[in-house]
Amino acid sequence: MTETIPDAAPDLDFDLKVLPKVSLHDHLDGGLRPATIIELAEAVGHTLPSTDAVALGEWFRESADSGSLVRYLETFDHTIAVMQTKEGLFRVAKEFVEDLADDGVVYGEVRWAPEQHLQKGLSLDDVVEAVQAGLEAGVDAVAETGRDIQVGQLITAMRHADRGQEIAELAVRHRNNGAVGFDIAGAEDGFLPSRFTDAFTYLAQHNFPATVHAGEAAGLESIQSALVDGRALRLGHGVRIAEDVTIEFEEDEDAQGDEVNDTIGMVTLGELASWVRDRGIALEICPSSNLQTGAIAGFGEGIESHPLDMLYQLGFNVTINTDNRLMSGVTLTDEFELLVETFDYDLDDLLELTLNAAEAAFLPLEEKEALVEYINEAYADLG
Ligand SMILES: [Zn+2]
Repeated sequence: MTETIPDAAPDLDFDLKVLPKVSLHDHLDGGLRPATIIELAEAVGHTLPSTDAVALGEWFRESADSGSLVRYLETFDHTIAVMQTKEGLFRVAKEFVEDLADDGVVYGEVRWAPEQHLQKGLSLDDVVEAVQAGLEAGVDAVAETGRDIQVGQLITAMRHADRGQEIAELAVRHRNNGAVGFDIAGAEDGFLPSRFTDAFTYLAQHNFPATVHAGEAAGLESIQSALVDGRALRLGHGVRIAEDVTIEFEEDEDAQGDEVNDTIGMVTLGELASWVRDRGIALEICPSSNLQTGAIAGFGEGIESHPLDMLYQLGFNVTINTDNRLMSGVTLTDEFELLVETFDYDLDDLLELTLNAAEAAFLPLEEKEALVEYINEAYADLG
């Protein structure tokens, strides 16, 4: 439940950047500044599609938008190539935090796969430490500007690789030094979370939380495996849980007996959708990314067909995220604006979505409560 905000700006005609935000699903290798990629590439001798920052940014967005998975994945070859040294990792992590803060984010979880950053001889522990140092430097730089941000690492294993156990152990080893959770990412279709059952069991035995990418490129079987084998406390995207929701429409008639429009009749949730909704499993929804990758193609064309609104109205624990800010060319502020334009969301809705994310954060209870209180107060001040 959220408080009703007195006298909230009804048309939201202020910069939504000022709203305090919580970012739960944002990839480190998908959020670099184009100018930084160019400088780092020059330092390590990596060739880019363009050495002009504006043109390079455009190339990333176009490649992600092309509808070609090959081109989409090629974008990460370039970002990952410049994140193979301690200096590169440190700088990217630091700027990542500064960019989040500029977007109004007050708490962010940064996910990335350490195993993809060992090409120049660094160890798994080296790269986690370099990123942590960069994140902390980012937090300090933000503090110097009079703002606060808190960040944590989601240590991610790649689904097509076979290093799940090693990466789970890495995450637990760094739990007191910045690692707040575990994830698996990469090709979802054909790589069920059950492939990593041993790693997830190890994490559970160490009481270390996991969110799992599921319900993006694959459907209900993948979500089921994320919840059962992965013991996922949140779902990365999870949007295709909507495939387990059946809505029957009823035709309305006017006094003359003519059809006027369809209204929602019976809504039926399957057992899996009921579990996800009733247990409050958070869905890390990334609207623009879902549109680009075709995750929501089965529900219709365009962002207005995104089932996030239906899931939200039915009481699912929906949170809003960016996924890859560079590839999608978006910020969390942009995603909020998209929801306001598409679904007519008001300040109460944005608050509820933000509180959902705060309450789903991999934080100790006292820190979550402080975050919730901070967000509530900031929204109340806008009234
Ligand atoms: Zn993702």
